[in-house]
Amino acid sequence: MNVIFFGPPAAGKGTQAKIIQDKYGLQQLSTGDMLRAEIEAGTDLGKKAKKIMDSGALVSDEIVIDMIAARIDSPECAGGVIFDGFPRTVAQAEALDKMLAARGKKIDIVMELDVDQGKIIERVEKRAAEEGRSDDNIGALKTRLQQYNDYSAKVLPYYEAQGAVPKIDGNQSIEAVTSQIEAILTGKDSAPSAVSGGA
Ligand code: AMP
Repeated sequence: MNVIFFGPPAAGKGTQAKIIQDKYGLQQLSTGDMLRAEIEAGTDLGKKAKKIMDSGALVSDEIVIDMIAARIDSPECAGGVIFDGFPRTVAQAEALDKMLAARGKKIDIVMELDVDQGKIIERVEKRAAEEGRSDDNIGALKTRLQQYNDYSAKVLPYYEAQGAVPKIDGNQSIEAVTSQIEAILTGKDSAPSAVSGGA
């Protein structure tokens, strides 16, 4: 099963992906985490990406598509993937569909984690204190939220055209959000694909 967690910054996509991947034998692929690993390792790509990420803008489609392509055939992805923070543009969504179709696979479900703006600001402030992410500040967050509004208006309709995109209330506790996701995933196991594109 291949799943996309879609949602604004600090919606809880990463937290939920980590819980769900362990329970369902899926592999979380977070382009944000991969980029932060490149920065940590001091690679040229990391250096290039850091400036963009710190401003809250999106890195190029080519960079993130190449990072996903490099991971998709790894053994840990064989049981399915939770895409977290990818795709963020229609070009990325199309590239992902192509990549999966070439392997006889497809996106089985796209979920949107919906969180109120006040809650997002609260969570970003908490994460800034706990993790010290350099893009968790009000200036960059403003840009990231603006970016989200812009790209969700394009990427969500791309997937809605292929099938239902269930909305999760991401304002609730971690456990309550996990329950909502699991209800969709387990319902999904016995139901035909909501998203039929790709294969
Ligand atoms: P995230 O950890 O998902 O919030 O991503 C942090 C930052 O990494 C974003 O603000 C972007 O600068 C960059 N990034 C992560 N994923 C993507 C993507 N799919 N497309 C473009 N930029 C991305």
